[in-house]
Amino acid sequence: MATDMKALIDAAIKARDAAYAPYSNHPVGAAVLTTDGSVFAGANVENAAYPLGTCAEAGAISAMVLAGEREIAHVVVVGPGEATCTPCGGCRQKIREFAGPAGKPITICDKDGNILLETTSAELLPHAFGPENIDEAKG
Ligand SMILES: [Zn+2]
Repeated sequence: MATDMKALIDAAIKARDAAYAPYSNHPVGAAVLTTDGSVFAGANVENAAYPLGTCAEAGAISAMVLAGEREIAHVVVVGPGEATCTPCGGCRQKIREFAGPAGKPITICDKDGNILLETTSAELLPHAFGPENIDEAKG
């Protein structure tokens, strides 16, 4: 495994270990690599009003945006077990915003960082609505 990939997975595991998920007991970590080579991590953060929690991917994307970066190159998600912890529907749209219409790689790992699935954002959200659709509508 390439060093960069291992670093990305390690960042997602570290984030997962810091997650706040007392209600679901389903901690998730995500790491976003940008086209500039920066890595931003996020973890899910729950609260007593269950549906109002935020996902790991959303946290990582928020950190990326706050740092002024806008282009995702790769996303790694690490769940708490052996199941394939793919991004939820809302996160697929959030990733799409910064991954472009052609899509970028998304790697899903088990709790130990072993790769379970290698896919792309375009495969996870085909025919997605994105910023280009708004531009087209403006004419
Ligand atoms: Zn999500």
